[in-house]
Amino acid sequence: MRKLALRSLYSTFRKEFGFLDWWPGDTKLEIVVGAVLTQQTSWKNVEKAIGSIKAANAMNLEKLAGMNLPALELLIRSSGFYRQKAMRLKGLLAAISEYGSIEKFFDTDAKTLRKRLLEMNGIGRETADSIILYAAEKPVFVVDAYTRRILGRIYGIGENVRYDELKGMMEGSMERNLELYKDFHAQFVELGKRYCKTKPLCSECPARNACRYGSG
Ligand code: SF4
Repeated sequence: MRKLALRSLYSTFRKEFGFLDWWPGDTKLEIVVGAVLTQQTSWKNVEKAIGSIKAANAMNLEKLAGMNLPALELLIRSSGFYRQKAMRLKGLLAAISEYGSIEKFFDTDAKTLRKRLLEMNGIGRETADSIILYAAEKPVFVVDAYTRRILGRIYGIGENVRYDELKGMMEGSMERNLELYKDFHAQFVELGKRYCKTKPLCSECPARNACRYGSG
């Protein structure tokens, strides 16, 4: 499998942005909820929905998993696609509840946990990997649209590369380290938001010297 020079790329990002301390969330449950709610929406909208859940004193596995759908929909309305997301969230939390606690649900290896998550309705690879990395705290790479775009441009990786292929390429290019993987994902998001936009700002980008697209 192709190796990517990710160590030096991470150093470049880190020099520019510092340590980013992502993902925000007071508990594992809150991170799981955020990972589902952030599908197809901005984090700002997720924060509002999480705020509503907390204000209703419902950021609790039992309460959320047992809540009726209309009540859950109302609490997460600001996150968009709230009917779909309420169903997904309820399904996921009900499955977690069957294990007795979120810690017990996570108490397995990353591969088994990923398989468990991917079997659930509406939980795709990116959501599953975000949960595994930030809530279960196991080192796996998350491939979001920013990561795909940035690696595509820097290393000339085609747009059609499969999710698992790119994830494997990243994991095969860097030692497994939880804090590093957590921060690296946040760094990709930051670079994508600030510089590597749809229309990239290459002349200002800290990664331009390492980038095929930006230095070409
Ligand atoms: S140099 Fe341009 S294309 Fe390359 S990572 Fe930076 S913004 Fe993106």
